[in-house]
Amino acid sequence: MTDMKQPESKRLDCKQTNGKRVVVIGGGVIGCLTALYLHELGANPIVLEKGVAGRESSWAGAGILCPIHPWLYPDSFTHLIDASLAMYPAMDAMLHEKTGMSMQWLKSGLLIPLFDDDRVHHRDDALKWSHRFDWHVEELDAGQTQMHVPTISDKVNGSLLWPDVGQVRNPRLLASVSKALELANIPVRQHAEVVGLGENGQGEINAVTLASGEQVEADAVLLAAGSWSGELAKQIGLALPVEPVKGQIVLLKGEPGKVQHIIKHDDVYLVPRSDGHILVGASMERVGFEQGTTKAVIDALLEATYRITPGLKSAEVVNQWMGFRPGSPDGMPYLGPVEGRKGLWVACGHYRNGVALAPGTADLMSRMIMGEKPDMDLSDFRVDRPVVELNRVGFPKAA
Ligand SMILES: Cc1cc2nc3c(=O)[nH]c(=O)nc-3n(C[C@H](O)[C@H](O)[C@H](O)COP(=O)(O)OP(=O)(O)OC[C@H]3O[C@@H](n4cnc5c(N)ncnc54)[C@H](O)[C@@H]3O)c2cc1C
Repeated sequence: MTDMKQPESKRLDCKQTNGKRVVVIGGGVIGCLTALYLHELGANPIVLEKGVAGRESSWAGAGILCPIHPWLYPDSFTHLIDASLAMYPAMDAMLHEKTGMSMQWLKSGLLIPLFDDDRVHHRDDALKWSHRFDWHVEELDAGQTQMHVPTISDKVNGSLLWPDVGQVRNPRLLASVSKALELANIPVRQHAEVVGLGENGQGEINAVTLASGEQVEADAVLLAAGSWSGELAKQIGLALPVEPVKGQIVLLKGEPGKVQHIIKHDDVYLVPRSDGHILVGASMERVGFEQGTTKAVIDALLEATYRITPGLKSAEVVNQWMGFRPGSPDGMPYLGPVEGRKGLWVACGHYRNGVALAPGTADLMSRMIMGEKPDMDLSDFRVDRPVVELNRVGFPKAA
């Protein structure tokens, strides 16, 4: 635990008389949206962001509103995803009404092509999972697949299509959340890195310390620092195995309508935007906080793209970028209170699914922080759950 004692003059008394003062550490989609929902419930949140809010994983991601391989997770994960996706219409409407901005939430459908030599071993599991959880899925033959995706390889001999799967454009989602925070006068302090937590002597967390030495007082603190949550937790003696998993993305300039569905094969996916751009993602790299894109990875993404849709070979590469997914060993987020640290809450480790899980997380966390009991079983997401590496959804092998 960092020593929190500061000279009285350096203390910033932010406690409000009306409403619970909640300090949210991290200005990604999880922190910002939870702050907004907390405000709706009558709290006085403040977001502290070490850099510029909404510029890390939440900006970089592809915005697919469906896990990559949902059938590989425990059922509790599907329940959480289902609950969160069910909140998208209300969240979209609320943000649009407040800000007039659109996150470009689009039901583009998701298609998994099947090749002769296919490595989609879990096709049966995918179908079983879809039927069990009532995710509408269609099996298409080669001709039907060709009709849905004219640019697809002639080696594809069928596909699975989930027509209801949607997508959002991350930067636009973040822009609308940020505007809503601004309109609600919820402070978002940029370049305000939290380096420690303060206790009141009875083990209750009641403040955070910034790198500048300033203290910000709080009735509750929410750790939502994405990939950096594990490091920050360590500084306060809390074991939280959240680590960055780097993902690189390349953007193609296509023609609007040429690819209509999100197409996914193994770990490569193509996300068509309504303006014709096609986002191709994404690598899974356990290389710490190593910045920058690499030619080898971008070339591998393009090669996989051309194998699925040779018709895209002529599409110009217009951009590439990367981000750090807040990875966890079992691919599932950490959600809830920290035992023995009253007032400290955690919402991090959303890994590959933080955008899909954002409204569900914000709703659950804001209600719990305000004293409500969660209406779903969150034991699989406990902060002190055993560290178990789940095959295929946990960490990739280190480089
Ligand atoms: C390439 C890629 C593709 C993805 N695709 C998808 C997808 O298709 N669908 C999907 O649902 N998800 C996807 N994701 C995952 C999703 O983007 C993340 O799970 C989600 O954005 C996590 O949000 P967050 O708010 O926890 O983290 P972040 O957005 O990383 O935000 C955390 C914030 O905390 C700040 N911070 C850190 N430490 C401190 C500190 N000490 N003090 C103050 N602030 C601090 C950081 O600067 C950062 O702004 C993808 C991610 C990547 C990288």
